[in-house]
Amino acid sequence: MKTNLFTLFFIVFISVKSQSKYDFPVELPVYLSGSFAELRPNHFHAGIDIKTRGKTGYKIFSLEDGYIQRIQITLGGNGKALYIKHDNGQSSVYAHLEKFSPRIQKVVKEIQYSEKKFEIRLFPKKNQYRIKKKELIGFSGNTGRSTGPHLHYEIRDENDYPINPLTFKKEKLEDTIPPIIKNLFYKQLFKNNEGLYEDPKEGFKKLNFKKLNGKYISDTLKVSGIIGFGINSFDKMNFTNNIMGINEIETFINSNKIFNMDFNKFSFNEWRHINTFIDYASYKKNKLTIQKLFTTSYNPLNMYDRSLGDGAVDLSKLKSMNSEASLSFKILLHDFNRNITEILIPIIILDNFIKTIPKETNDGYLIVKRDKEKNIEGKHFNVRFKKNSFYQNSYLDLTEREKSIKINSDTIPLLKPFDIEYILGDNEITQLYISQHMNNKFNYIGNKIENGFLKASSKTLGCFYIKKDTLPPVVEFLNIQNSKWHSSLKKIKIKGYDNETGIKSYSAWINEKWILMEYDIKNNLFFYDFSDLVNTQNIANNLKIEIKDNVGNTTTKEITFYRKINND
Ligand SMILES: [Zn+2]
Repeated sequence: MKTNLFTLFFIVFISVKSQSKYDFPVELPVYLSGSFAELRPNHFHAGIDIKTRGKTGYKIFSLEDGYIQRIQITLGGNGKALYIKHDNGQSSVYAHLEKFSPRIQKVVKEIQYSEKKFEIRLFPKKNQYRIKKKELIGFSGNTGRSTGPHLHYEIRDENDYPINPLTFKKEKLEDTIPPIIKNLFYKQLFKNNEGLYEDPKEGFKKLNFKKLNGKYISDTLKVSGIIGFGINSFDKMNFTNNIMGINEIETFINSNKIFNMDFNKFSFNEWRHINTFIDYASYKKNKLTIQKLFTTSYNPLNMYDRSLGDGAVDLSKLKSMNSEASLSFKILLHDFNRNITEILIPIIILDNFIKTIPKETNDGYLIVKRDKEKNIEGKHFNVRFKKNSFYQNSYLDLTEREKSIKINSDTIPLLKPFDIEYILGDNEITQLYISQHMNNKFNYIGNKIENGFLKASSKTLGCFYIKKDTLPPVVEFLNIQNSKWHSSLKKIKIKGYDNETGIKSYSAWINEKWILMEYDIKNNLFFYDFSDLVNTQNIANNLKIEIKDNVGNTTTKEITFYRKINND
């Protein structure tokens, strides 16, 4: 007995200790602008976003002892990011940084100058660069695909699964606001020999609801057959206006739990499958995020408790089990701090239920079988889908013209990119590219030329056009002028952009020596920092920059500027 009590005490002690292991990596009071696993385009958010008062440059500290696992600089994505492997096997990630600590910055610059590249991905050896707990590692920023200054911060377990960093924080963030439900939906579902089947042509129907005694209650639903529910919901926390994700969803028929989805852990292999959790077509067509409270047979996500079944409400089965023709469906939404929102849906079961799957009519549409590759060879274009590019067998609306091809619209999610080949005519090669028409814009997607084809691949269906980019990039010196003195200038600033196909590569030199120009792609800006000390021996300096677009149009500009020789 004594031993048991001691063991129990020990276990409690250990778990409390592990829960409070990490402090936040900032000195600021912590407010979030993004929560763990919240819904983002094509992925679940793998960390939390900590607000930095709308500014950059706040000190960022390592959570724990460890070593640098990865240093990464990319134009998009995480921007400047540091990955630290801790001695307990977990790791932490700090992203969108403005710059690294001087110690790390030195390593980064050496690599950048030796590889003559701004974007780098460096994987140092284990323990090559040790990092101490609370060591300064960098400064908060807004680099990469970030829409405002903040720190994106992740914790990953031993197997590189992201986990909610809030699990480890000593003091909880204040959050008394329960999840918010904006819209409630239902739709008819079917069963086939693979399991639950969702007819892509069958849309979600809206269900009205109102608040009553702190709960939500919907209009009575009179339906038959198999029904699935969908919600449009999110969470909020105190002191911020940002919209965040929910932490857990449960549903019940009367009081039997039939569905549970847990947002506390997922893997990077499956995060793109968010497109099977949300109704992809509504999201793409109407910017409406309907979160499905059921799992169709092809849904590969591991965030559900599969032992409960598929979450669908089979009314014919329920009716034969109960004599009553009515039941109640309940949805519970939890946020991380266990605030709960409850939604009740009274259901009356109608007799005339639909049993069979609606007959698949293709209306001249193209059929793509999920488990087969599909090659479509047309007059002007070929389209090639790899095996298992689709979650389920799909019908595509395909129309080909001389310089464009419509491959459905972007309403069916894809698992793999597919290839588009345009059959080139004689002398029809230079400056051509394939673009995708999206949100009223033409986006360059590729221009590889091979065996008489112009090729590109796309991750989404839609409309594709053959276009020609004849204009070279625009390059403009912003703070440096020809034949002028610039002794006190700390950074050279150059504006550069290409309106059609975008910038593929660039280089710059001072007196023919390569200089590192940092590229801020969101603002079309290039920077050189004079503290890199490339060429300090000359008073007259030649500055040259060359920018290439994606079809090979090139702009080169050069000037001579004067600068006092600095011997510091
Ligand atoms: Zn983030």
